[in-house]
Amino acid sequence: MGLYDLARKVNAKRKALIKARDGFVPSPVRRIGQACPPRDRRLVAMTFDDGPDALTVEGRDRGLTQVILDELKEYDAKVTFDVIGSTADNYPDEKGELGTFMWSGRAFDHYPKFGADGLAGAKNRPELIRAILDGGHEISNHGSTHRLFGRMRAVYGQRHHFETLDQVVGDLEDLHGYLEREFGYTMRLGRPAHYIDKIPDGASAYDAYRIMGYNYMAASFDGAGWQPLASYDLEVDAMVKPLENALRADPESLNGKIIFQKDGSNMAERTPIADALPRQLRLLQDAGYQVVPVSALLEVSPFEDMDPASEEAESVKYLLSRGRAPGYKNNTFHGERNVTAGELYMMLADPEALRARRAMSPRELMAAAEAASPVKLGGISGRDLLRAAEKLGVTVDEGPLKDAAAVRRSDAAVYAARLLRGLSK
Ligand SMILES: [Zn+2]
Repeated sequence: MGLYDLARKVNAKRKALIKARDGFVPSPVRRIGQACPPRDRRLVAMTFDDGPDALTVEGRDRGLTQVILDELKEYDAKVTFDVIGSTADNYPDEKGELGTFMWSGRAFDHYPKFGADGLAGAKNRPELIRAILDGGHEISNHGSTHRLFGRMRAVYGQRHHFETLDQVVGDLEDLHGYLEREFGYTMRLGRPAHYIDKIPDGASAYDAYRIMGYNYMAASFDGAGWQPLASYDLEVDAMVKPLENALRADPESLNGKIIFQKDGSNMAERTPIADALPRQLRLLQDAGYQVVPVSALLEVSPFEDMDPASEEAESVKYLLSRGRAPGYKNNTFHGERNVTAGELYMMLADPEALRARRAMSPRELMAAAEAASPVKLGGISGRDLLRAAEKLGVTVDEGPLKDAAAVRRSDAAVYAARLLRGLSK
């Protein structure tokens, strides 16, 4: 597996660089890998990609998604199913070689496997979507056809991929609309196929998700169910041991994390998740964890660096609930930094105004936020903010704003929340 490990390492390094560079870009779309651990309890989120899957699991009388649902129920765990629509239109294609990234097809992915596309996907298996929703789980958008947003030659060679933002959005809207029409369910999170973000026309997954009103659902702990090993038993162990070791080293270490899993086969067409999941759930239960969907985790603790018990948390959550963008693209908040005018506009702007269907640079996004903000600023001292509120006829407690020459982001969020509450009365 040397090549896979290398490719993963390179990718992880690239993502770390991007994360550092994007650290302080205010954005309505956040790449959410984890949340700040709540102090009073242990919460962990679990996500399952590529289903729903009705292919019968070896040695059982049910398909994989139903097996997973039954096990989750046993442990009272609620999770996020990151579903696809259908890969049935991803032909003509040739079956790829098992054990490689092209295992299910050379030009496209096919789930649950090549030639059996009708057994997976929300559109082919609506009864499983119903079962997921009846079980109290969350559903997120993994792309209707699971096509790559762009190229990644190192791993996927000459594979088919989308060329434009419009194509990507069209694919996401297709599945989004299906779930709204058939189930009255609105998705709020997306994860690109194979985490490929860049669209060839210069746009990115962030543009697509901004238009969709989604956050970018990443992960912070690999459930390891995608990687084939010499035997099924080894694959199951490889999914359990890292979790066991992490909890043994520090029982708190999974608090606020998002675990990546597959509601599908690994690259050798085996499904170790079927036997690994109950063992993982037992370990988490014994360590005092509650397993929750990603959105439920974010409701408690929206940002990676903001203590959900902090003074500003309630205001920040209110802004998020109104679709506002108080935080940064990398899912940090940094309440201790001084707010900039652009950041304050992002906290106040009507989200609908930021959804224009095209790629937007951070500068263009900020300009759109300024145009859509109820407040126009000369500067951003406390006095400027209070004056701005006065002009709108909204009373905002002076508090720390009164004599502040600069305003901290935490105080700005409290101000923005009061202003919006005042305006909506
Ligand atoms: Zn996938």
